[in-house]
Amino acid sequence: MPEGRKPLISGNWKMNHTHLEAIAVVQKLAYTLGPADYDRAEVSVHPAFTALRSVQTLLDADEVPIALGAQNVYFEDSGAFTGEVSPVMLAKLNVRYVIVGHSERRHQFGEGDELINKKLLAVLKHKMRPILCVGETLDQREAGVTEELVLSQLEAGLSGVAAEALVEVVVAYEPVWAIGTGRNASPEDAQAVCKCVRGWLAQHYGAGAEAVRVQYGGSVTPDNVAELMAQPDIDGALVGGASLDAERFAQIARLGS
Ligand code: PEP
Repeated sequence: MPEGRKPLISGNWKMNHTHLEAIAVVQKLAYTLGPADYDRAEVSVHPAFTALRSVQTLLDADEVPIALGAQNVYFEDSGAFTGEVSPVMLAKLNVRYVIVGHSERRHQFGEGDELINKKLLAVLKHKMRPILCVGETLDQREAGVTEELVLSQLEAGLSGVAAEALVEVVVAYEPVWAIGTGRNASPEDAQAVCKCVRGWLAQHYGAGAEAVRVQYGGSVTPDNVAELMAQPDIDGALVGGASLDAERFAQIARLGS
C-alpha cells in the first residue's frame, strides 16, 4: 500500500455490547494500544447507537486517538422518521465514520443502492466519512459476476460524489459469504477485487483515486490480518466478530503483530 494511505481498522460491533460493555471494551483498547500502533493504523469503533454517547465521552475525556463510528444513519436531517437517527445527531457526537450499505442492511433490511447513495451523500454533507460496503453473495461469486456486481454497487453508491469529496470516502469490500462465517476470501482474491475497485475509481475520478482507502471485511482475525494487509490495494479491515473483544481487536489493529 502506498505511503499516503494509512490503514483504517474498523470494529463493527453490530447489535452487541450495551453501553456499559462498550465502555469496558474501549477502556481496555485504550490501555492496550499505544502511540506506535496509532502511527501504523487508524482505528475506529462502531458501537450501537445506544452506546455512542458513552463511548464518545470516554474517548474525548481521555483523548484516546480512536475514531468514533456509527453503523448506520438516515439521510434526512430531522423530521417524522420514527426510529431513525440523523447525520446531524451523529455529527454532534463527533462521529467520524459511518458505515453505509453493510450487507446486513442490504439483505436483512432491504436497503437498496438508491437509499444507500442518499445516506452516503448525507454523511459527506455533515463532514463525516462514509464507509461504503460492497460485496457479492456466494451465488453471484459462483456465477462469475463478482466484479460486475461490486462495481455496480460502487457506481450507484457514489452517484453525485464530487472529485474533491472522494478522499473522504472509504470503500469496504466485503464478500457476503465471508461475513460472520469464519470463511474469508484468500488474500489474492480480496486483492483482485480491491484492485478492480481502485481501477474503477481511477477511471472515474482520476488521480484522486490513489488516496482512497479500500478495506477488506469478512472473518478478519489476528491470524489472517497481516497477509490481507500485505496486499497492495487493501488499506485496512472492517471487522465484525473479532472486534468485540478488546484483546483480539487490538491485535488486529496492530496488523497481526
Ligand atoms: C462485518 O460485520 O462487516 C464483518 C466483516 O463481520 P465478520 O468480521 O464477523 O465477518
